[in-house]
Amino acid sequence: MSIIVFGSINIDLVVTAPRLPVAGETLTGEEFFKIPGGKGANQAVALARLGIPTHMVGRVGANSFGAELVQHLQDTGVKTQNIFADENVSSGVAIITVDHHGENHIIVIPGANGHVNQEDVGRLSQLLPTAKALLLQLEIPITAVVAAAKAAHNANIPVILDPAPAQSDLPAELYPLVDIITPNEVEAGQLVGFPVDGEEAAAKAAEVLLQRGVKSAIVKLGAKGSICATPEETFFVPAFPVDAVDTVAAGDAFNGGLAAALYHGLSLRQAVVWGTAAGALAATTLGAQTSLPDKFTFDAFLKERGVTNN
Ligand code: ADP
Repeated sequence: MSIIVFGSINIDLVVTAPRLPVAGETLTGEEFFKIPGGKGANQAVALARLGIPTHMVGRVGANSFGAELVQHLQDTGVKTQNIFADENVSSGVAIITVDHHGENHIIVIPGANGHVNQEDVGRLSQLLPTAKALLLQLEIPITAVVAAAKAAHNANIPVILDPAPAQSDLPAELYPLVDIITPNEVEAGQLVGFPVDGEEAAAKAAEVLLQRGVKSAIVKLGAKGSICATPEETFFVPAFPVDAVDTVAAGDAFNGGLAAALYHGLSLRQAVVWGTAAGALAATTLGAQTSLPDKFTFDAFLKERGVTNN
């Protein structure tokens, strides 16, 4: 059995400079980093690091970046047979400039991610008979997201949707296909159309999402924790207090931890605790994929914080 992640695969090209350039200016910068990313790939790596058999389904360009991205996923233990190398486009790329104050300019080229289509859903469908869950995000065309959710739903495979990056107009037909939706406060606010800031508003937003047809809604509240609502109950899970240095990819780590717990047959409440733990660990380390915890670190953290799996 395995978990399928269907989504984006990116390479982040990051440069640092004393300040951001103005239009038309050429500036000498300091450092250059090439970092694998994309919310889909991040969630696949989060799962594989936790020891879960994970298939990534998506697209890269048939260029050197594409080969590197696939190799990197393979090295982390992600199964990559269903990543298609598209001859006609570049891989997804984010060009990021960061200055000394942490201000940034980011341009994202979806590239191959923007070409994910029904063919990829077809490849994904072949994996469904041995799948425990399907993880989706919103960095590939929404038509492909809906088609994948439909295929999984019809096969009785739970669908976990991270509605990121934030969007205000998800198709109404998507909600009833989703078993668990996991927005952060900003994403929840965009979906429901009122500001979501804190527990009370999060519970209201979760209620709206249930009414639209999702089976459970988890609203991630950063350092505060998260609210989880099902038709039977609404509960709050506090964050684990940690010394946070960088919360990039904390949300992806959360979804990895959540799905890993469900893979092992744990309850939804326990799964939210696992997500919260993985998110906390990711917040203690710099970077995106580099900050995703491995099984050893994760198990040690659960033990240290007194979490028992029942
Ligand atoms: P996103 O990365 O999608 O914006 P959040 O910032 O809400 O999502 O983080 C996801 C989860 O990671 C949170 O629900 C929480 O469990 C954990 N987390 C994030 N930031 C912290 C923090 N500073 N301390 C402890 N846990 C955190």
